[in-house]
Amino acid sequence: MSDMELFEFRDEPTEPSSPSDASPWTILSVEDDLNYQETLKFALRGFQVRDRAVHVLTANSASEAAVVISGHPEISVILLDVVMEDDDAGLRLVGTIRDVIGNESVRIILLTGQPGMAPCRDIMKEYDIDDYWNKSELTSEHLHTVVSANIRTWEQMSLLNQAKKGLQMVITASQVISSKTNLLSFTQTVLEEISHFIGSNSIICAQRIDGREPESIVVLAGTGRYGKMVGYSVQDFPDEDYFQLFQQVLNRKKHVFRDDCSIFYFSNIAIDSSEYAVLVNTPNRLTEHEVYLLRVFSENIKSGFTNVALYNRLSKLAYYDPLLSCHNRNWLIRELNGLSRQEIEQTQLVVVGIDQFNDISITFGDQFCCELLEAFYAAICRALPYRLVSRISKDCFAVLAQDYDDVSQAFFEALFNSPLRIRDAEHLISATIGVMKLADRPAKSGEETLDLLEGLIAEARVQGHAYISFVKTQDEHIAQRYALLSSLRGALHTDQLFIVLQPKIQLVDNRLVGFEALVRWRHPDGRIIAPEQFIHLAETSGLIHKLDEQVLEETCHAIHALQQVGINVPIAFNISSIELLQPGFFERMIALFKREHVDLPLLDMEITETGAISDYQRIKPYLTELVSQGMGVSIDDFGTGYSSLSHISGLTATTIKIDRSFIDRLDEGEVGEEMVNLIIRLSNYFGFTSVAEGIETENQRQKLIELGCQIGQGYLFSKPMTVDEAVSRYQLH
Ligand code: C2E
Ligand code: CA
Ligand code: CA
Repeated sequence: MSDMELFEFRDEPTEPSSPSDASPWTILSVEDDLNYQETLKFALRGFQVRDRAVHVLTANSASEAAVVISGHPEISVILLDVVMEDDDAGLRLVGTIRDVIGNESVRIILLTGQPGMAPCRDIMKEYDIDDYWNKSELTSEHLHTVVSANIRTWEQMSLLNQAKKGLQMVITASQVISSKTNLLSFTQTVLEEISHFIGSNSIICAQRIDGREPESIVVLAGTGRYGKMVGYSVQDFPDEDYFQLFQQVLNRKKHVFRDDCSIFYFSNIAIDSSEYAVLVNTPNRLTEHEVYLLRVFSENIKSGFTNVALYNRLSKLAYYDPLLSCHNRNWLIRELNGLSRQEIEQTQLVVVGIDQFNDISITFGDQFCCELLEAFYAAICRALPYRLVSRISKDCFAVLAQDYDDVSQAFFEALFNSPLRIRDAEHLISATIGVMKLADRPAKSGEETLDLLEGLIAEARVQGHAYISFVKTQDEHIAQRYALLSSLRGALHTDQLFIVLQPKIQLVDNRLVGFEALVRWRHPDGRIIAPEQFIHLAETSGLIHKLDEQVLEETCHAIHALQQVGINVPIAFNISSIELLQPGFFERMIALFKREHVDLPLLDMEITETGAISDYQRIKPYLTELVSQGMGVSIDDFGTGYSSLSHISGLTATTIKIDRSFIDRLDEGEVGEEMVNLIIRLSNYFGFTSVAEGIETENQRQKLIELGCQIGQGYLFSKPMTVDEAVSRYQLH
C-alpha cells in the first residue's frame, strides 16, 4: 500500500534534542527517623545517574508522603521505611501509591529497621515492590547501585507507558480524522487532536494554493487565540516571525522543529495543487517522544489531506460534465431524489435527445460533435432561462422545469426549427423530446424516473415522433411490468434462467484471468431477456433471493465444467445489494459452496459500493473471512456510488471494477481520462486490483494500460458466451 508519487513528503532529520533533559532525577525518602534520613541524603549528595544529579525529596510520615507523591509525578524512586506511625504504615502507603494515586511506574524500595523482618513475597508481588533492604546492611555503595538501577527501570517503564498512551491517542485521533471528508472540518479536527496530544492550545493550519505569493497563504483553521485568524492571510499575523516561518516551511517543503514551536509540512500538489503548514506553538520544546508521536500522527494527517482532496475531486467530477461544465446525470438523480412533495407537484422533467448523434459523429468527427453539443446546450439554456440544464448521456440533456414553463410541442418545434450555428455554418438539428409531470410518474427513485423517460424517447424515435408526453403510455407500461413479473415467477421454477460467461483478461497480453457469470432468461416465447429488464423487478418483488441462488448453483457447475478441461480461473458472480444484506445470506452462500464442493479461490463475489457500505459493520467480518480463505470480493460499478467513495480505505475487498461509463469517457480525451486515472490511483493506493468494465475499443485498452490498470472485460475481447462455448473456446488454448 504505497503511492510514492501522491505524497510528496520530506522529513527533516530530527535535530538532536537539547541538553534541557539534564534536569535532576527526583527521588523521595519517606522516613520518620530524621537522623537516618539525613544520612541517606548525605550518602546521595553529588551522586549522578547518567550525568544527571539526584534530587532527594523527603517526607516524615505516610500521610505527608502521599501528598508529596501526588504532586510530583516525576519522582522515580521511593525509599520507604516500613515501620513509621505503626508497624505497617509503609505497606499501606504502597497500596495508596498504586491504587489511589494510580502511580504504576514509580519504583519502591522498602527499608526495614529490624533484621529478618522481610515483607512477604505476595505483598511484594501484588504492589510491585522492587527491593527491600535492612537499613544496617545498606552501605553507601549499595545505595548507589540500588538507586541507579531503579532509576533506569523507572525511565524505561515511563517511556513505555508514555508510548502506549501516545499510540493509543494516535489511533483514536486517526479514526476521528479519517471520517472527515470536508477540508475545513478535517483541518479543525486535526488541530483539536494535536492539542489533545501535546496540550498546546495555539495551533494554526495554513494553506497555499498553486505555490502562489506569501499573501495568498491563508489560515484554514486555528485553535485558542488563533481561532480568530481563520480566513486571513498569514501576512496579517501580529507576530511577524510566524509569517516568515510559514514561508520558510512552504518553500523548503520540510517539517521544522524549534524550541517554541514546530511546523509540519504537507503537500497535495499532485492532486489539488495545495500545500499545508501546521504550526504548533509550544511553551516548552517538545520532547523526543512528543516529536515522534507527532511524526506518526502526521503520516495520518498526510493521507487524510490526500483523501479529502481525492474525495472532493471525485465528487466534483461525479456531479459535473467535464465537456460542457454543466451538471451531469448523477447530479440530476440526486436532485430528483431530494425534491420535496410540494416541489414534485410543481415540477416537470424534460429530456431532450439529439437524433442520430452517432451518425453525425461518424460523418463530421468528434470535434464537430463537441461544438454541436455546446451549441445545443446553449440553445436549451436560452429556451428555458433560470433552469439548470444537465447532460445525462452523450447525446441527451434534461431540465427540471416548473409547471408554468412552456414545454409544449409547439415550443420545442419553434426552438429546433431554427438552425444552430456551428463553425460558421447553419445546421438544422433534429431532436426528440420527452416530458413528464413528476407527480404523474409511477417510478419512485430518480434513477427509475430517468430510465422511464429515456425509454419513452427511444420508443418515440422508433415510431417517428419528435415529442412524447409521459401520461399517455403510463398505464401500458405498468401493465407490461405486471405481465413480466408473473412470468418471472414461473421462470424461477422452470429452469428458464441460465448463465453466460464473459472473460476477464489481462490487458497487456490478453491472457484469460477469470470470467463473470451474467444471468439470462430464456422466455417461453423464445426471446432471450437481458438482466436489465428483470433484475430490478426481481429485487422489488422479493424474487431476487431465488434468482441469485440459482445463478450461484449454475456458477458452481460452470467451475467444475471448466476445471475438467483444465481451466482453473475464478468465476465472478453478482450479488444484489438487497440480497447481500439479508440475515443469513452468508451462511446460506457458504453452505451452498460446501454442498457443491467448490474451492473458494475459484469464486469472486461482485457487490456494489452501495451494497457494501449500507450495513458494512455487520457484513465486514464475513467478507474478511471469505477473503482470508482466498475468495475474491469485487466492488462493482465503482465510481457511481459516489456518496461512499470516502469509505474505500476501509473496504474489505480485493478488486475495484471501474464502471463502464468512465471507460466510455476515455475516448473523450484528457478530461475523460482524469476520473479513470484517479480511480486507478486510489485503487492501487489501497492495494486493490483494478478491473475496467465495458472495454470496446483498442484505444481504451491502450489508455488503461498507460494508466496502470491491470485487468479488463468488454466486447473488445469477447461478449458473454454460454458455458459450453467457454469450455470449447478456452480448452483449445
Ligand atoms: P454488470 O455486473 O455491471 O455487468 C456488466 C454488463 O455489461 C453485462 O450486461 C455485460 O454483458 C455488459 N458488457 C460487458 N462488456 C461490455 C461492453 O464492452 N460494452 C457494453 N455496452 N456492455 C458490456 P448484462 O449481462 O446485461 O448485465 C447487466 C447487469 O445486470 C449487470 O451489470 C448486473 O448488475 C446485473 N446482473 C447480471 N447478472 C446478474 C446476476 O446473476 N445476479 C444479479 N443480482 N445481477 C445480475
Ligand atoms: Ca458485475
Ligand atoms: Ca459493473
